[in-house]
Amino acid sequence: MKIIDLHCDTISALYTRREALLRNTGHFDLERAMKSGIKIQFLALFVGPVESSIALEKVKEQISFYHDELERNKDILYSITTTDQLYPQPENNAIGSILHLEGAEALGQDMGVLYSLYESGLRSMGLTWNNGNLLAQGIGEGPEASGLTSWGREVVREMEKRGIILDGAHISVKGFFDLLEVYNKPLLVTHANARALCKHPRNLTDQQLTALGENGGIVGVNQVSDFVKDHNPVIDDLIDHIVYIADLIGVEHVALGSDFDGADDIVMSGIEEYKFWPQLLNKRGFNAKEINMILYENALRIITQVLG
Ligand SMILES: [Zn+2]
Repeated sequence: MKIIDLHCDTISALYTRREALLRNTGHFDLERAMKSGIKIQFLALFVGPVESSIALEKVKEQISFYHDELERNKDILYSITTTDQLYPQPENNAIGSILHLEGAEALGQDMGVLYSLYESGLRSMGLTWNNGNLLAQGIGEGPEASGLTSWGREVVREMEKRGIILDGAHISVKGFFDLLEVYNKPLLVTHANARALCKHPRNLTDQQLTALGENGGIVGVNQVSDFVKDHNPVIDDLIDHIVYIADLIGVEHVALGSDFDGADDIVMSGIEEYKFWPQLLNKRGFNAKEINMILYENALRIITQVLG
């Protein structure tokens, strides 16, 4: 079993808690991940809505923590920056990481910052967290919030040119549709579910999902309980979202985006419970090929298309 997970906040959580990536008390660590079939994990940097110079300073601190962890665990963790590293992947249980930035406050109005983050290994970015910034409005600004600014559009075009994965999670609804219009590569929504099943504003409406399918993009389903169901959701309730999205836009558009360490209350105890997924998906009618698509192939296809 091979798995790609499109989002976790483990790096920023561990940086704050001063814990190690190899073994820790959170949802994700390398020891458990290696036993769980994880081949590629997106590792997010997150600083929240702060002024750009402060954001940049904090992002740099987290990047240096990430590089320290790469160095400490160099036999089992590596940084993916080119498609060459995907074909073939290491024979051992080593985990490839894709460095992601959740909210681009750190850019200020300087494209040079994007270039230097790229040099530091960044290959994935979402323009906003829930709050708006110089690039776009976030989903937390309400359903009528505006979309991308002209600076935001410029950044998206540069991301496309450089081969940086664009994340449509957290952005306003208008911003989401702007991304689809400006970015000519498949869009990744790294951690969100279906609004039709759970009314959280971060979840995608049918209209958004349909547009994402037409774009060739994918959505990674989010384990945070509030995004799954109102009362005491379990893993099977999250699989309802997979079934719903697959029925609506096709199984080739569904993947995993746990949000490990992004919230306390999620539907799994941690990464170790991914081992149950093939069986759970099989019980819901997915065949072996489809299970492999959801857990691995769909995400690999998009990463290849964008980085390539
Ligand atoms: Zn998030």
